[in-house]
Amino acid sequence: MASSYRIFKIFGISIELHITFLFFLVLLLLFDVTTLYLWLMVFFIVLIHELVHSLVAMRFKIKVPSILLTPIGGLSNIDVPEDPKKEFLISFAGPFSNLVMAGAAVAFMSLSSLILTDYNTFFNLFETGKANFLDPGYILSGFVWVNLTLGLFNLLPGFPMDGGRVFRALMAFRMDYIKATQIAVQVGKVIAVIVFLVGLGAMGLITGSYAINPITMLIGVFLYFSGGQELQVLKIRHALEGMTPKDIAIHEMRYVNESMSLAEFFSTVASLEQSHYPVTDATGKVIGVLYIEDLRDVRRENTSTILVGSVTRRRIDVVDAGTSISDKLPILLSKDFVLVVEAGNVLGYVTPGHLLDVARFSRIRRGT
Ligand SMILES: [Zn+2]
Repeated sequence: MASSYRIFKIFGISIELHITFLFFLVLLLLFDVTTLYLWLMVFFIVLIHELVHSLVAMRFKIKVPSILLTPIGGLSNIDVPEDPKKEFLISFAGPFSNLVMAGAAVAFMSLSSLILTDYNTFFNLFETGKANFLDPGYILSGFVWVNLTLGLFNLLPGFPMDGGRVFRALMAFRMDYIKATQIAVQVGKVIAVIVFLVGLGAMGLITGSYAINPITMLIGVFLYFSGGQELQVLKIRHALEGMTPKDIAIHEMRYVNESMSLAEFFSTVASLEQSHYPVTDATGKVIGVLYIEDLRDVRRENTSTILVGSVTRRRIDVVDAGTSISDKLPILLSKDFVLVVEAGNVLGYVTPGHLLDVARFSRIRRGT
């Protein structure tokens, strides 16, 4: 089952809904139809925010294949370059667009003498079901408050949120990217803890009214852990800079024929050093990959009757021997086993574990 579905395409970008978004929509329809109104507005504003990030990135000739919309926000699939100026502009553009939309709505309201409902009143009317959705002033007030909330929240310097990226870019103007990211991640963790505490009702210390907000708490937890992951990938990318899959592929590799029985495989081919085996057909062509972990539940007494071909995964991930590893890193780290191919010939393979080993070794050798 796919985890996301494309809903439409705009400026060449595929707009995808995460499956949890659909569940969320169904829940709202069943239990809380009035919230649906606010949610559709948030959905529209988040989409604009992500499109603005993407359009700025595309001006820098960066490809943006897709935008993923989840119930807690949007994610543009942008491979942001290690260039502080570009990162600053791409990251700042999203929240900035929210502030511009809020400003434009306020200007329009004052010109047409519509009254801006204040923040607390807006949400109070909404929560008590007394909101008048036919009142343009009320609808536009909602538009203003949702935009301001999204814009200002995203500008918090919590890496990897937009504000955290802006903060990292500003520091990267005067120090190297890894150092700047390390600081941004530390600051981001502090922000994440604060967001979590606010979700737990800490604002009550100031306002006097305590309310727990599980979604805010969840965002805090998510923020706390996601910054570090990106730092890890960045470090590996730097360590593998300038290398190609050909340079680091493991060349010694055993193959297995699809017509071999598992018993025979275990006694003649299986090696402790290899946990994935390319599977060939009678002509020697690679038709899939045998994962040792897939054999965990096979009963020992059946191994002589089960053929390798019947437990082979038919999907083969390949990477071109001459490409830059840094560019392919996110993909290579997300696949268990990738064949390195040069002009149609298999040279060897790489696994995430191997990439980590090479990166560690390379950093020790360079003394970084
Ligand atoms: Zn953003």
